[in-house]
Amino acid sequence: MTSTGKIPKVDQTTSYDVLVVGAGLAGLRAALAVDPALKCVVLSKVYPVRSHSVAAQGGINAALDPEDRWQDHAYDTIKGSDYLADQDAAAFLCQDAARAVCEMEHWGTLFSRRPDGRIAQRSFGGQGYPRACYAADKTGRALYQTLFERAVAQSIAVFEEFFVVSLVVAEGRVAGVLAIEIASGRLVAIPARAVIFATGGAGMMYARTTNPYIATGDGLAIAYRAGVPLKDMEFIQFHPTTLPGMNVLITEGARGEGGYLLNAEHDRFMVRYAPKLMEVAPRDIVSRAIETEILEGRGFADGSVHLDLRHLGEDLIRHRLSEIYDFAITYRGINPVHDPIPVQPGQHYIMGGIATGVEGQTTLPGFYAAGECAAVSVHGANRLGANSLLDTLVFGRQAGLAATRFCREESKAPPIPEAGWEEWQDRLATLRARRAPLRYGPIRARLRTTMTENVGTFRDRRRLQAARGVLAALRDAYQHAGVMDGGEVFNYDLLAFLETGFLLDLASTVVEGALVREESRGAHWRNDFPARNDDQFLKHFLYTWSADGPVVGEAPVAITHYAPKPRTY
Ligand SMILES: Cc1cc2nc3c(=O)[nH]c(=O)nc-3n(C[C@H](O)[C@H](O)[C@H](O)COP(=O)(O)OP(=O)(O)OC[C@H]3O[C@@H](n4cnc5c(N)ncnc54)[C@H](O)[C@@H]3O)c2cc1C
Repeated sequence: MTSTGKIPKVDQTTSYDVLVVGAGLAGLRAALAVDPALKCVVLSKVYPVRSHSVAAQGGINAALDPEDRWQDHAYDTIKGSDYLADQDAAAFLCQDAARAVCEMEHWGTLFSRRPDGRIAQRSFGGQGYPRACYAADKTGRALYQTLFERAVAQSIAVFEEFFVVSLVVAEGRVAGVLAIEIASGRLVAIPARAVIFATGGAGMMYARTTNPYIATGDGLAIAYRAGVPLKDMEFIQFHPTTLPGMNVLITEGARGEGGYLLNAEHDRFMVRYAPKLMEVAPRDIVSRAIETEILEGRGFADGSVHLDLRHLGEDLIRHRLSEIYDFAITYRGINPVHDPIPVQPGQHYIMGGIATGVEGQTTLPGFYAAGECAAVSVHGANRLGANSLLDTLVFGRQAGLAATRFCREESKAPPIPEAGWEEWQDRLATLRARRAPLRYGPIRARLRTTMTENVGTFRDRRRLQAARGVLAALRDAYQHAGVMDGGEVFNYDLLAFLETGFLLDLASTVVEGALVREESRGAHWRNDFPARNDDQFLKHFLYTWSADGPVVGEAPVAITHYAPKPRTY
């Protein structure tokens, strides 16, 4: 692996062609697209089926019906993005959607059906046609099972419970990754000619989130630290309907099936915010509507409004919304057949991510990204529901194909420099030995409440500057904090410490982006600049790492199909 052989080998393989980090839908789809003649491996910090993709509920969009067209799906996606999506990329996503869904169907995904046997489709937010294909409200699980079985059948190598800490760059291109083998605590280097990140979201930055504990934005922060720019980080999606308390998601499919939102005055308030689409308006609009009702005193005492499904009937609720039926009973003791479900907005998705093109390519040769960690950008300022699962399949495949082409064209990867490995080895040894009274827990907790309170649905300069101040103090505290577990084996304390560092880096890109974008667009709402300002801000912001915090750059938005218009629903 290296001349002196100091770095431990992970297995007998000296080098991989394509290394995929992340075993969610994007990672598995990427690996399945890699030419089987190449040596490919997938790394995941958790057992693969714990990837968040498995939790996806409501659906995946594709214009399948003869009356529907991919161009209409593209228009809805671009309008939903508040015109910040790169329109050529959004068109690619929507044009490829029917192929992607039919491919999953042929590979064995058990979609729900219409009486005539065709794949069932339901309404979703901001869509002009019911085009979300679904498997009850467990769509992610159905899709994942298909890809996982296929990956097993094709003997795709998966290194489970390997925690990637760093991207190795040598001779101006990617050369592999450094990762902690969680079971032993060893720091290993895994050389590869091409690396694809499919590491998912960063919801743990927020106190109220539908995301799992593992959604700590590792891939974004690792790419950012390696000099690859992040894009559109100020755009964070808040899902309108999560259960107060744990913020477990109640799928938009519940409103797609006809659920009503009611305030404490029993008023279907969406009529005042989106008179045409009502409850199935895009998420940014519904979340702000709910927050406004609560802030103006028309919510319930627990900071919620009600989602009423009772008129849909027991049969529909128990069969097409079976998971949320269980969730409401398990987590709130509420049977949605008989009582409305309390809901409040919670962080759900990051529109921003590692800046990529439609082939998943980044500014670093040989390095690709796909899925939630990437910003292609097809979602722009606001992602439409059921477009993310589609994004993972379409752009995961694109990244796998592009990495294959890269391997055909480029020579062997340069060797992994020993110095970078030693630096990380020293850093981890120092951390394990450091006994400081402050641990990651209070730092992460403060970060999460600060982001929820100051960088949430409604933002303004004062609150964003307050968040900037808190973040600076937290970064300082982090430098002096330590771990309680100094051991090697399964040291989750150390991993959580490293994840907290990733979250702190990412939070500063969100806050700086939210400060510099003095307009309201999609999910980014500034009370002090409540209008969209295309003259000044119809552009992407890019964030490049520096020791003093993110350096903000710009990139144009590709307007290839539809001129920006006012966005009403
Ligand atoms: C509750 C919920 C419901 C949703 N429902 C829908 C829906 O109905 N429709 C829709 O379109 N979208 C939905 N979404 C969004 C969508 O599910 C996600 O955006 C998408 O599945 C992300 O897939 P991914 O492959 O990018 O990442 P993930 O599935 O999150 O996988 C990330 C992978 O990266 C690995 N990883 C991360 N960091 C490291 C590291 N440091 N080292 C090694 N491995 C690492 C993890 O182990 C994991 O395997 C939902 C999201 C949530 C939270």
